[in-house]
Amino acid sequence: MMDIMRKLEILADAAKYDASCASSGTELRDSSDGKGLGSTAPGMGICHSYAPDGRCISLLKVLLTNACNYDCLYCVNRASSNVARARFTIDEVVKLTIAFYRRNYIEGLFLSSGIIRSADYTMEQVIAVARKLREEHRFRGYIHLKTIPEADDALIAEAGKYADRLSINIEMPSETSLKRFAPEKDVRAIRRTMGRLRLRLDEAKEAANNVTRTRPPRFAPAGQSTQMIVGADAASDRAILDTSANLYGAYRLKRVYYSAFSPIPDASRALPLQPPPLVREHRLYQADWLMRFYGFSAREIVDDKAGMLPLDIDPKLAWALKHRDRFPLDIARASREELLRVPGFGTKAVDRIIATRRNTTIRLADLARLNIPRNKALPFIVLSDHRPSPHLLDGAALAARFKPKARQLGFGF
Ligand code: SF4
Repeated sequence: MMDIMRKLEILADAAKYDASCASSGTELRDSSDGKGLGSTAPGMGICHSYAPDGRCISLLKVLLTNACNYDCLYCVNRASSNVARARFTIDEVVKLTIAFYRRNYIEGLFLSSGIIRSADYTMEQVIAVARKLREEHRFRGYIHLKTIPEADDALIAEAGKYADRLSINIEMPSETSLKRFAPEKDVRAIRRTMGRLRLRLDEAKEAANNVTRTRPPRFAPAGQSTQMIVGADAASDRAILDTSANLYGAYRLKRVYYSAFSPIPDASRALPLQPPPLVREHRLYQADWLMRFYGFSAREIVDDKAGMLPLDIDPKLAWALKHRDRFPLDIARASREELLRVPGFGTKAVDRIIATRRNTTIRLADLARLNIPRNKALPFIVLSDHRPSPHLLDGAALAARFKPKARQLGFGF
């Protein structure tokens, strides 16, 4: 029989391609009352720890099994893949989670699975792990469960009782690509389940706000998320961001995660040989952030012709360089929406500026005092003691100033 650590090696490695494991926005729980194990208090269970490749590392991130009936071309666990297979028992995942948690290695569990027997059977197994952790071990750490869209609605509802976050991967930016790369998956089932999750999340929120009712049943307090693979098909950044905007709007997702496609062994010829540049994934995250918190639309930030985000500069700076007629912006009078469009200004910086200007005239030195980065912003703003030269704002040199310096490639000797 395969030893549990060998299973862990296989099933943790098999799970690493899923980017949607960051935890945030859950409710606070703690065990200081001595009645439970673990907590999601800040600094403990709410993790924002990432491996150097950008993936979350403070959750135990495993698959229940990497055996799968499906044959999604981009997936290393697909039925036709020639990889070593393993399957945890429910007790093994529970035991590992508790052991790692007690040693402070992790703050929670991210559990997904290949599809075995049927969607319902697989979902039942995944839920059984979470149920056992919560009910038998009083585990109060973070749990993120990957849900299977074709599973019965009652099972999805049950998963929400135990999980902090539920996710369903949309996988591809378009239905055509999904059909081509994951023929057994059905975009309608994915969207239908996302819609049902949204309804349940809305109901739970409404019930929580209704003070006249007794405590409502818990349902995935950290909401739902999804993942899209970037660079396996020819979808442009514009198409990817349009899909994200639609998902955020229709299903109120907490996050869309972008996962740069990694070439896999014995890959189908339909897949590219090279992964996309990792910076493309990073630019998509920046663009996604601009859409969610800065009031930009996908249409504004992606170049119309190529449909791609620039790789050499961030999307907000690229937008500002294209819209120089809107600058320089007078910090004393600009609206919050306008300030949010200044390169280098984050939402907190804008809040600090607005709070400060109520009482005083902001000068150059104040930006440093307020801990606001100024290098990117200065050519685009007016302060009481600073006005950028019109030549700088209109000249070609401004864009060049922000682009990374060209470097000669190494020769390897
Ligand atoms: S359903 Fe597709 S993506 Fe998920 S494990 Fe199976 S082959 Fe991989």
